[in-house]
Amino acid sequence: MADRTLLRNARVLTCSGDPTERLLDGDVLLEGDRIAAVTPGRLAVDEASTRVVDLAGATVLPGLGDAHVHTSWPLDFVFDHGAIAATPPARHMLDVVAVVRTFLESGYTQIIGAGVTQPGDDLLAKQAIEAGLIPGPRIVPSGMMVAEVGGLGSDGELMEVAADAASLREIVARQCDQGVTALKLFVSGDGVVPAHPSEDVYMDDEMLSAAVAEADRHGAFITVHARGSASVAMAARTGVRIIHHACFLDDEALTALEARRDDVWVCPGLHYLYAVVRGHARPWGITEERVEASGYPRELRAQVDGLRKLRAAGIKILSGGDFGHQWTRHGTYAAELERYVELVDMSPVEAIHTATRNFGPVVGLPTGQVREGYLADLVVLDGDPTADITLLQQPDRRRAVLKDGRFAYVNPDVFP
Ligand SMILES: [Zn+2]
Repeated sequence: MADRTLLRNARVLTCSGDPTERLLDGDVLLEGDRIAAVTPGRLAVDEASTRVVDLAGATVLPGLGDAHVHTSWPLDFVFDHGAIAATPPARHMLDVVAVVRTFLESGYTQIIGAGVTQPGDDLLAKQAIEAGLIPGPRIVPSGMMVAEVGGLGSDGELMEVAADAASLREIVARQCDQGVTALKLFVSGDGVVPAHPSEDVYMDDEMLSAAVAEADRHGAFITVHARGSASVAMAARTGVRIIHHACFLDDEALTALEARRDDVWVCPGLHYLYAVVRGHARPWGITEERVEASGYPRELRAQVDGLRKLRAAGIKILSGGDFGHQWTRHGTYAAELERYVELVDMSPVEAIHTATRNFGPVVGLPTGQVREGYLADLVVLDGDPTADITLLQQPDRRRAVLKDGRFAYVNPDVFP
């Protein structure tokens, strides 16, 4: 018989879809790696064959997810990509291990790669986690990012470079053969690099369609860096699964997204823009002048406006976004959810959905809900995150994180 654990006296946030959901006073029974039952009140179990853990009223919610992760950026990252690429691989891998462990300890049980700096970062971390060598979340691994000749990143130092549909197809096939399942392509510029403004468009429909078809053949999917409207529209109409940033949205982009409502997700990275615009990066040389020159203040306003439109149109949003800078430190990932509540008027439950129930269909796993039959990836937390979304960022509130039905992290200050 499978291992059975009863989480007794919990207050459960199921994330079953109701944006007005309140915490349920209940018990959660786990069997093996799955949730076997979620019941209101106390569940009668045979205590001889079931481990009973009394949570004394702590909140249980689904493990969180981040859809835009760079495992390659170490805990002390200060925007020097070249230095990371040049770090000896063994030393660098220890940094990656510390990062994936930080995700897990922060309540994040699933992450989607958004491009690595050394080719095997996501893949090696995933293998080591699955082999039980190191703690970490489920990883949907990315590989090296891919740029177009002449586009952002095309100096070839940190990205692979494709000249046309055929060479892009080759790169996608090779990465997929290595095990990559979330491919990351650059189809727009970025205000922070003045030579490549956000409204620039790289690649074309033919290239993106070829990449999507090749990835699909391997059971993988395409994600893109797309900040300007034209790049978002192109990504939506060619079958890209995750569109990162989507800072500017015109009617054409919105219509293209609406046409694919069931199989496209937008991952904005709102907190990153907010932190830069608010001057949090000033101590690291991102001065007010540089922020103005990047156009980010305008992008932030456009992104907030765009997210409101996406929400009204029922386009699914995935939480995530470039955490790991000193001004968006590793471990503060749930600040993204706070921004959705503060700037986009989401309810806390809706914001939590962007990190939980919205993930399952993207990664093809029964995750992101506290529901019978789902994987038992859970966070145990003191306090009610539906009343105060910032609790999710507070390490001392986190009692434990379960993955596959096992306690993968236990706060040593809470359970000495
Ligand atoms: Zn990124």
